Amino acid sequence: MIFGPPGAGKGTQAKNLEKKLNNFQVSTGDMLRDEIKKDSEIGKKIINYMNDGKFVDNEIVNNIMKKIIFDPKKKNKLIFDGYPRTLDQAKNLDLLLKESNQKIDFIFFLNVNKDTIVKRIERRKILEKRSDDDSGTILKRYDTYMETTRPVLDHYSSHNNYHEIDGSMKISEISMKIEEILEV
Ligand code: AMP
Repeated sequence: MIFGPPGAGKGTQAKNLEKKLNNFQVSTGDMLRDEIKKDSEIGKKIINYMNDGKFVDNEIVNNIMKKIIFDPKKKNKLIFDGYPRTLDQAKNLDLLLKESNQKIDFIFFLNVNKDTIVKRIERRKILEKRSDDDSGTILKRYDTYMETTRPVLDHYSSHNNYHEIDGSMKISEISMKIEEILEV
């Protein structure tokens, strides 16, 4: 599981691990953006929340997650990126993992300060043209993270393989650190 504020580099590290370990990145953000692109019923419901930097309903996210966790092709090969983001989601994940006979092996917390995040997301907006990377939305997303997601860490910090990593380091340095811990 990769944990951290928006712009911490969770997606980048998850993609790197996906290749290296032949596992599957599970990015709720990417999945939700896909629903918007497809203009699906879910997409129509969530577009305003996402563009406003607010969280999508736990129920919607938890339902998407259920399908993935019970997918036999992906069993024991999941890299969570951006999920769970609320305590309700963390409890739901615990339940789904238990029911599917899986467990969390490693938790990486990429810790980055607010100034670095704002600079990174402004750059990402130019590169990836994400509609929720607007400068006003960035600050809202950061506040939502601090209020709702940061406390979820307490749920996991006693895990025996919980690792806090300085997310302001270079991408390659963070990858090296993670791989060193995973021994891959
Ligand atoms: P991300 O790509 O992970 O930064 O997510 C982009 C946006 O998608 C967030 O700001 C939320 O609006 C929404 N989102 C992603 N993951 C979740 C989640 N686990 N729970 C609720 N909303 C989410």
